[in-house]
Amino acid sequence: MTTPAIRIPFTGPLPPPIIVPRSASTVSGAIDAISAFFRAAPSPLLRGVDVGRNAQTVLLTGAGISVASGLSDYRGENGTYIRNKSYRPTYYHEFVNRHESRKRYWARSFVGWPGLVKAKPNATHWAIRSLGDKGYISSVVTQNVDSFHSMAHPDLHTLELHGYLRSVICISCRRHVPREDFQQSLRRLNPTWAEFLDEIVESGALDTDNPEEQRRRGLKVNPDGDVDLATAPYSMFRYPACPHCLENPPILADGSKSKVDVESDGAWSPGSNAGILKPAVIMFGENIGPDVRIAAEEAIDDAGRLLVVGSSLATFSAWRLVERAYKRGMPIGILNLGGVRNETVIFPGDKESGPHVRCSHKAELILPEVASRLDAIR
Ligand SMILES: [Zn+2]
Repeated sequence: MTTPAIRIPFTGPLPPPIIVPRSASTVSGAIDAISAFFRAAPSPLLRGVDVGRNAQTVLLTGAGISVASGLSDYRGENGTYIRNKSYRPTYYHEFVNRHESRKRYWARSFVGWPGLVKAKPNATHWAIRSLGDKGYISSVVTQNVDSFHSMAHPDLHTLELHGYLRSVICISCRRHVPREDFQQSLRRLNPTWAEFLDEIVESGALDTDNPEEQRRRGLKVNPDGDVDLATAPYSMFRYPACPHCLENPPILADGSKSKVDVESDGAWSPGSNAGILKPAVIMFGENIGPDVRIAAEEAIDDAGRLLVVGSSLATFSAWRLVERAYKRGMPIGILNLGGVRNETVIFPGDKESGPHVRCSHKAELILPEVASRLDAIR
């Protein structure tokens, strides 16, 4: 039986980090350990017929590496789940089925978007580019939806496991609309909100990369681009219909023609049963498409070792890739500040750790130094 690759949040407590080797508890020790991890000869324990890229490393990255760009992670010390105990993300089934959920989601996303646009890749992303240029990396699999990887290293093969925020996608016809165009539609449909947003921009809350400072100015941005507003009337928020489905109402699963209606100003009407636009991210409770899931598995199988950077592996889809690599005999490195789900599976107590490495530091303190220290291998 195969378990569906569904994105669900894991909010339970994580164990304290295990450090392997012990010398990796310091920053300089961690730089040594991660450098040695990249340089090591392919593991003799590795299973699999494709040995072509066994000297290379596949990276699996998570929200922890975008904290230095000013985005909150989920479970770090200032993470969304830690800071705001009542925070819960919008689930896919709610978004698809409930007009009210979509209004709330888009209102928050509308306010969060300018801050996300301003945020830029940081030293970790540039270090990954450099490591890729030097021949150490086969692929990057990321859980992040901020597009920083593709901005920083467009030539390095990158797979966005949970999609991306740069587009919205129609649930009916699967066509994409650039998120920036969609933002302009939201502005037009919600002039009062647009004014409010301009005020927030004016306040300078979007001028700083420091989440603490943003919070002081009344703006809290989660990694999915959602903004926490203490009081705001989501119920009045309006969003557009898919322009293609508006012109050509699609055929429904039962063979009947769908209805896509808009209000006089062009806002999607609740009398419609198609043409709903959704962010092109895998929302919680949504299945990862089989093409992406298979491509991620292939990226694992194509490399000789796996380095996890800035992820606590809390989503099952991410943990499953690590488990796959582990069972394949790949050396596993984990560079994540704080505990990681199931890490005792890979680092079982005081047993010989073999080729595995585990450090609990911020990636931006480690990877840039590793990247500058390593010589090109091609
Ligand atoms: Zn459509």
